[in-house]
Amino acid sequence: MSSPTARRGCLSCGTPLRHTFVDLGMSPLCESYLSAEQLNQMERFYPLHVWVCEKCFLVQLEEFVSPEEIFTEYAYFSSYADSWVDHMRRYADAISDRLSLGKESFVVEVASNDGYLLQNFVKKGIPVLGIEPAANVAKVAVEKGVPTLVKFFGARTAEEVAQERRADLICGANVLAQVPDPNDFVRGLKILLQPRGVVTIEFPHLLKLMAENQFDTIYHEHFSYFSFLSAETLFAAQGLTLFDVEELPTHGGSLRIYARHSEDASRPVTERARALRQREVDAGLLRLETYAGFEEQVKETKRRLLEFLISAKRAGKRVAGYGAPGKGNTLLNYCGIRTDFVDFTVDRSPYKQGKFLPGTHIPIFAPDKLREAKPDYVLILPWNFKDEIVQQMADVRSWGGKFVVPIPAARVLD
Ligand SMILES: [Zn+2]
Repeated sequence: MSSPTARRGCLSCGTPLRHTFVDLGMSPLCESYLSAEQLNQMERFYPLHVWVCEKCFLVQLEEFVSPEEIFTEYAYFSSYADSWVDHMRRYADAISDRLSLGKESFVVEVASNDGYLLQNFVKKGIPVLGIEPAANVAKVAVEKGVPTLVKFFGARTAEEVAQERRADLICGANVLAQVPDPNDFVRGLKILLQPRGVVTIEFPHLLKLMAENQFDTIYHEHFSYFSFLSAETLFAAQGLTLFDVEELPTHGGSLRIYARHSEDASRPVTERARALRQREVDAGLLRLETYAGFEEQVKETKRRLLEFLISAKRAGKRVAGYGAPGKGNTLLNYCGIRTDFVDFTVDRSPYKQGKFLPGTHIPIFAPDKLREAKPDYVLILPWNFKDEIVQQMADVRSWGGKFVVPIPAARVLD
């Protein structure tokens, strides 16, 4: 068990943290789904208090929970979300072309999950290595033919792998936010990268999080929330330059940054990287006042969602959830929504079915339960997949059921 001692300085630059971004109160770990037997046991709650660094403007949590506690038995199998699997297949095609990857190349993915991305390179005959700390998830990757090292990624792991071979491409999606020591992580990228190699890292974009009120993407498993500017500072400190960036629709709006060794002049900084950087400066991301208004916006979102649920229940309507993602747990715990408002939720992952959401104890069933119970409203918790879910569950409308999204503000979909 980790001791609840708070870190005092910024994760990236070490400056003491003195400015609150948002305080979401006490919350259990988002991915610790409960079995029926665990419902009567004590549950651990941790502060979900987010700070912004006054020097490098990295938005971050205080660390109360050790990464070992969170990630060694992780329940998230990426392959259960179709649109995400497609997204990564398209990425594999595009980057293979752009970097002319072939049988002589070497691709490493950090936090490679169940191999859903690397399997695309394997099919092209490109040598790969996945690095994934959760042994149960890594095992699934190996069964798919994706060689996987069960380790946390950082400078030490990078040195070990680099002794054999350095990478032409290192990629990572939704991992940077989750590393407890981002400097060690980026140092690892520097060590493992070939002199002319490229790193691509995807993370949810702070600018979007703020503009669209996506406070539910804040949870204990995500230690930091990057803008292009704060990422640039972090990478520069380890001798890596961001030379390109793409804006992606995934996870409510993400960035895919492209990095290279600062010494590698063969890849000039692109116009779109300069333009995005300037947009962040213009949006005020280098001024503390910009961050100070976020908390009130979050409170208003809570009031709007509760207003909707209270009036639905007063009208005798039945409400169920769709999905059991980590973000749903932040939202439900912060808003105090339990089975008094949401009867149950459903999820496609068999790993979650039969379990209960942490904190709120809402039961999780297979999607067929919706067809059986025919609720009036289906609250979509992974709102970033709402189009896909509405399509998959089109028959909800056959009994007059309606879909509802909670973010950026509670809204019934037409
Ligand atoms: Zn800082």
